[in-house]
Amino acid sequence: MRLKDKTILVSAAGQGIGRASAIACAREGAKVIAVDINEATLSSLPDECPGVEVHRLDVCDRNRIAELAGKLPPLDGLFNCAGFVHHGTILDVSEEDWAFSFDLNVASMYRMSKAFLPGMLEQAKSNGSASILNMSSMASSIKGFPVRALYGATKAAVIGLTKSIAADFVKDGLRCNALCPGTVDTPSLRGRIAAADDPVEAEKNFIARQPMGRLATVDDMTPMVVYLLSDESQFVSGQAILVDGGVTI
Ligand code: NAD
Repeated sequence: MRLKDKTILVSAAGQGIGRASAIACAREGAKVIAVDINEATLSSLPDECPGVEVHRLDVCDRNRIAELAGKLPPLDGLFNCAGFVHHGTILDVSEEDWAFSFDLNVASMYRMSKAFLPGMLEQAKSNGSASILNMSSMASSIKGFPVRALYGATKAAVIGLTKSIAADFVKDGLRCNALCPGTVDTPSLRGRIAAADDPVEAEKNFIARQPMGRLATVDDMTPMVVYLLSDESQFVSGQAILVDGGVTI
């Protein structure tokens, strides 16, 4: 039980990496608070994993975040997982696209971290550690990828925010790291494949960019999520950690 006695909040927990992470953390003994904007997907989570507490939350809604932070016990772990993949070069990015992606992919992490940080610092003081994990990506943050101009800009910003939080609170026992996955088979990836002009070719191309010859599964991600939220990683902070099947070798 690597997360025994820890209270961990996971965003985007309705599906994909967030959902798998919420389940993995609960199975390692954490009290998991799972949030998502999609009540329908979220509501089936406690059936799949009894004990997980669910709350509908839009991570762009500052007031609701503050309300929830006021109600919940202090957190030991916060996994800011919510994000959106914009497809296109810089020429395809409208002002509205830019504002939307930065709001969801970056400002949400600022809001969530700021709201939950005071409680996390209390936890770190009494228990010796607390951990924030921010979802970045291999795409553009580490290596440039075509048609990911806006997405890459947001995920690079996530790494900057992560390093700043890590630097500011390293002496207080609070760690902050970023996870940079390769291409993971999730409902939204399936949506991106289906939306392509030639979905069969699109899937082949997604697989071809992974040197290991396959897409990642959500279960390829969860061991690193558990590690970074557990005390096993207590000497690790401010890192952008790649789990990318060798893409950036
Ligand atoms: P997904 O895209 O399939 O699901 C995203 C979840 O986020 C959904 O349940 C959705 O309802 C929720 N969500 C969307 N807007 C929200 C909001 N405003 N407030 C709260 N919840 C909201 O899941 P995924 O593919 O696992 O992606 C999760 C994260 O991982 C994203 O940040 C994504 O950028 C990142 N990521 C994904 C991949 C990949 O290949 N799938 C690779 C690298 C990074």
